[in-house]
This record gives sequence, structure tokens and C-alpha cells, in this order.
Amino acid sequence: MQLNSLTEEELKEVAIKYNEKAFRGTQLFNLFHSQQKTDLNGSNLPKKFIEELEDKEEIANVKILEEYASKLDETKKLLFEFDDENIVEGVLMKYKHGYSQCVSTQVGCRMGCVFCASTKGGLIRNLTPYEMLGQVYEVEKKYNIKVSNIILMGSGEPLDNYENIIKFLKLLHNEKGHNTSFRNMTISTCGVADKIYDLADENLPITLAISLHNTNNISRDKIMPINKKYKIEDTIKACKYYSEKTGSRITFEYTLIHGQNDSEENALELRELLRGLKSHINLIPLNPIEEYDEKRPDRGQVESFKKKLEKLSLTATIRRELGSDINASCGQLRRKYKRGGTSEVCSSN
Ligand code: SF4
Repeated sequence: MQLNSLTEEELKEVAIKYNEKAFRGTQLFNLFHSQQKTDLNGSNLPKKFIEELEDKEEIANVKILEEYASKLDETKKLLFEFDDENIVEGVLMKYKHGYSQCVSTQVGCRMGCVFCASTKGGLIRNLTPYEMLGQVYEVEKKYNIKVSNIILMGSGEPLDNYENIIKFLKLLHNEKGHNTSFRNMTISTCGVADKIYDLADENLPITLAISLHNTNNISRDKIMPINKKYKIEDTIKACKYYSEKTGSRITFEYTLIHGQNDSEENALELRELLRGLKSHINLIPLNPIEEYDEKRPDRGQVESFKKKLEKLSLTATIRRELGSDINASCGQLRRKYKRGGTSEVCSSN
């Protein structure tokens, strides 16, 4: 049992199991989530209790392995390592309103999106709630900052690790811990429609973002295998349910690949799909990876597609590129690191 992935109530039960008073569970919770510590020594827990926990239970650790700092802005890309030496990556971005962190939810991914480096080795394993929390805690300790926005958009499909991400987000929300509002959390999914319904029924006002990337099933099938299971219409229907339940606007991530998904017809299809749904489209110029070297559109082509959408009364923005000098897209750093070839992008201090 991984102690620092447990809720306060669960830790109280652990304390009782070891013949301690329930408040020892609260002490443990505070140690892990208020003080952000993983070492029981130095706490005011009884020595015998510490020894028993160290002997019989597990406490997960997350370590920052590498840092790639942009020289253009304050963006940082990070590699995190877990106790079993698996590695994931994350991004820390600074905005006017504070720090946003992109968190990984799985080591690898089984969703197979063709443009994504994270999926090339398949899914290795799910991350536990603490392994996600630890990414945030370690960043805060390293830079002495408070992260105010969390985006589940690192490696992995969050809704494919559903129980753990819900527990992670609830722990992050806990007022004795990180105390982050659900409204400052975003889950980005490739469109696991069944789980979108489950998420809506949790009644948590979390922002939902859908990696859409194309506007019809024939084209989307080719780049995102999830589309063979949940057709675009199924995903949009689930989004409408989510939006109605939570009162929130859905973000659609749309990676632009010149000549493939930026035509007039695509814009019209998008309008039909999103009709009646509170939505916002986030346009992302493709960041080619070794395994998917399609054409990145130039600025003019991106602007032109945005205008097409706006003419159809759709709301769209172009994602601001932060850290463009370290602009390895999701999954690339980890793969390069594993191949021992990070030095060309590494500016680790
Ligand atoms: S884009 Fe997301 S869901 Fe698709 S393969 Fe990559 S990590 Fe998985």
C-alpha cells in the first residue's frame, strides 16, 4: 500500500491497524501533503509506528532527473523519475496569472495517436495518485513557487487511469494539502467517451479538453485509433452531457497539419460538430516528431484557418508557444533520454 497516495480517512485506518490513535493518520496526511515530505524520520510520530510503517508499507518518491530550461522565457521541461526508474516528463509554464504545470498520468500510453512520441513504446504502467502529486510537489520545492493550474496533458491518457487521476485531483484539492480549486484543473483526453460520462457524474467542475485534431471520422480514424471505438459524434455527445452537467465550456485541441485538416470543409464540419455546445478551439501548429514528420503550417496558414473558424462564429485561439527553443513535444524528451541522446536539447543546470 502506497501511504502517500491515501486519503486522510484511509491513513486514519492505517494508524488504527497499527494500534495507534486515528489522529496519527492526520499527522501522516499533513506530513505528506502539507509539508510535502516523504521521510517519516524527523516527524513527531512514535518511533515504533515509524519503524512498522517503514518495514511493512510503501512511501513513493518522485525525483526530478533533468531540467531543460528555455532561454527565451521561463518555461521548463522536466524529466521525473519514480522508484522503479520509470521516467515521465512534464512542463512548467509561467503566465501572468501564475504557474501552470502539465502533469503526466501514465508511463507511455496505449492510445496510439500517430503524431505522439509518448505512445511509441506502448503503455508501460499507470501512475499512482502520489506519483502525479509528487511531480507538482517536487517542482514547487525546486523553484520555491506555488503552482496554481494543473493540466493533465503530459504522457498518458488520463481517462485510461481513471480511479488514480480522480484520487490525485481530490488530494490536490484537499484544503489541508495543496488546496487547488477544481476550476484550475484541466483533463485533456483523446475522447474516451464512456469515462467522460463518469467524470460528469463526479460533479467536479474540472475543465475538460478534447484532443480532436480532425473533423470527420475517416480522417480521424487514421491519426487517432480511439476514434474507431468512439466516433467523433459519440465524443461530442459525451461533451454535451459534461457541459450541461458542469456548466463548463469544453476546449477542443486542434493540431494543425497543413493540407490535412485546415481546409474550408474542415471548418464547416467543425461548426456542425460543435453546434449547440459551449466550446473553444485551441489551434496548435504541428510539432513534428521523428516518427511523424508531417508538415508544420506556417503562421499565415494557422491565422487563415483561425479566420475561417471565426467567420463561422466559432471561438478559436492559437496556442502561445512557450519555450520554443526546447520545443520537443510530449514524449520526445523521455525517448531521447532513454536512448542516451538528450544532450542536444539539455540545458540542465
Ligand atoms: S496524444 Fe495523449 S492519448 Fe494520444 S497517444 Fe499521446 S499521450 Fe496518448
